[in-house]
Amino acid sequence: MTHSAAGDAGTATDDGVVYDLDSRCTLEDVERGSRYLATVNGTVDYGVFVDLSEHVSGLVHESNLRGDPAVGDDLVVTLAEIREDGDVGFEAADVDPADVDTVAVRGGDEVGVGDLADRIGDLVHLEGDVVQIKQTAGPTVFSVRDGSGVVPCAAFEAAGVRAHPDVELDDAVRVTGTVETREDAVQLEVDKLVRLRGEAAAEVRDRIDDAVAERAAPADVEPLVDWPALEPLREDLADVARRLRECVLEARPIRLRHHADGDGMCASVPIQLALQRFIATVHEDPEAARHLCKRLPSKAPFYEMEDVTRDLNFALEDRTRHGQRLPLLFMVDNGSTEEDVPAYRALDQYDVPILVVDHHHPDPEAVEPFVAEHVNPYLHGEDYRVTTGMLCVELARMIDPSITGELDHVPAVAGLSDRSQADAMDEYIALAEAAGYDEADLRDVGEALDYAAHWLRYDAGDSLIGDVLNVDCDDEAHHRELVDFLATRARRDVAAQLEDAEPHVDHERLDNGAHLYRLDVEHHARRFTYPAPGKTTGELHDRKVDATGDPVITIGYGPDFAVLRSDGVRLDIPTMVGELSEEFDGAGVSGGGHLVVGSIKFVPGMREPVVEALVEKMADAELDEALRSTLVREE
Ligand code: MN
Repeated sequence: MTHSAAGDAGTATDDGVVYDLDSRCTLEDVERGSRYLATVNGTVDYGVFVDLSEHVSGLVHESNLRGDPAVGDDLVVTLAEIREDGDVGFEAADVDPADVDTVAVRGGDEVGVGDLADRIGDLVHLEGDVVQIKQTAGPTVFSVRDGSGVVPCAAFEAAGVRAHPDVELDDAVRVTGTVETREDAVQLEVDKLVRLRGEAAAEVRDRIDDAVAERAAPADVEPLVDWPALEPLREDLADVARRLRECVLEARPIRLRHHADGDGMCASVPIQLALQRFIATVHEDPEAARHLCKRLPSKAPFYEMEDVTRDLNFALEDRTRHGQRLPLLFMVDNGSTEEDVPAYRALDQYDVPILVVDHHHPDPEAVEPFVAEHVNPYLHGEDYRVTTGMLCVELARMIDPSITGELDHVPAVAGLSDRSQADAMDEYIALAEAAGYDEADLRDVGEALDYAAHWLRYDAGDSLIGDVLNVDCDDEAHHRELVDFLATRARRDVAAQLEDAEPHVDHERLDNGAHLYRLDVEHHARRFTYPAPGKTTGELHDRKVDATGDPVITIGYGPDFAVLRSDGVRLDIPTMVGELSEEFDGAGVSGGGHLVVGSIKFVPGMREPVVEALVEKMADAELDEALRSTLVREE
């Protein structure tokens, strides 16, 4: 019981002080022996009824009354008794209200969101801005943030009726309410919600801006391995970490789009977990972690129109149905190339910021007009050997450093999945070994991820993927068995596919001396199963490289596409695709990828001339032993 804020006068029996309770004060604010300003609200023949606040009223019995006050008159009173039935009795003090100075008492304390868990049952005041307005079948729930956190504030007008229709998203507000718990989560039951204007609003905003700037700062973590190539990238990653933390603090949803392969999952799963843990520290609503961060796999190595239109539509529906802001899109192991631009243009129709962390050969001029941050090793003179998984494990630790000890094996899985020949691979593998994984285990995890991702298709499969990668999985023995099962099935399926394909592989020796292998994956590989054409071609290619020890090009073609792999040949696939597109009218040639690994699309009727022209270009390419170490695997 305190006289809080403006008028704490110390001892309760302080002579000469008369307290003036504001309307929100409750009996908790009234102390025996202190004097209070009261207003007569009714007279009866045995005394008068007085109000001290909206919540505090009582009787002054005629025996305790001086004079003959009328309704509307002010009195100074002291507390006489609180009866068992809750009725309150006062005595009139021998003081003329006109002769005293009063001290204002505010009902409830000024608190921050971070303090609420310790104030259950209390009436409090909170200032902040509105970051979400959700109309339920019952109350309207305003999510209010003050920089220390975000709390749902439930205001009830009538069932399903929008309370405080004048209050909109991003308005600064002052909320008075009772701190309650609902299913273990803290929320405010709103008594009063006032939209602040002018200076009062500006003051609240300044306070929030300062608090957010401080809280959004990324954690200053030492990298897992000492690797100069990472240094300039870590600075870029810190900017990404800050933006992501800001999003959480303003309740902007984050959509994490990633390439659905081993590296893409090693990158996106730690980010997802780090963000969800940070969300849980900021948001009192336990559902927020699920609503505010979603991971979405992309089948193609770029952001397809099909994906972006779906994402946009979900975002717009969430805005309408749940009063959510439009999301931020975070592209991981994807998003750096010109092929992403049409999707980015679609997002550009709305307020959807884009961040990219990728290691595919970028087209910075094409994508950077659309993206707020673009992290890519090629922008710092490095290349795909710095995999996205390696980068994003560092990023996840900047978002939530407590995650550190759980990710020691992840960069090695990412590197092996993408066949990184980075100098740091030995160190990453040693780090994983210290966590109990030998190299074969790590390859198995990569294989199992690939297999699970294939069957999950457009589903993120959060729980299953967490178990496969052993991130946020609390049963390591189960993780080991699951990986063993999936990796074994994956290898068995690959072996079966290649056994049926190999008799139908055409071989020729190109003019430049390279071996060319061609496989019609449409007719000589099982369709709609694992491995898909890209991986089938890749696995065939690896076998031929191992078997010949020479420069090798492998083409896996279907009716309207071809997947290209090469080793030891100085190809430039994006340029070849560009040339073919100009040379053939009406062939619908498009595609690209890395320099030596990629894919090309065309219309089925033009397959033969396009593939033949492609082979001619490949036959002209120089051999390059140095390129043998730069192979990457791509769906
Ligand atoms: Mn990758």
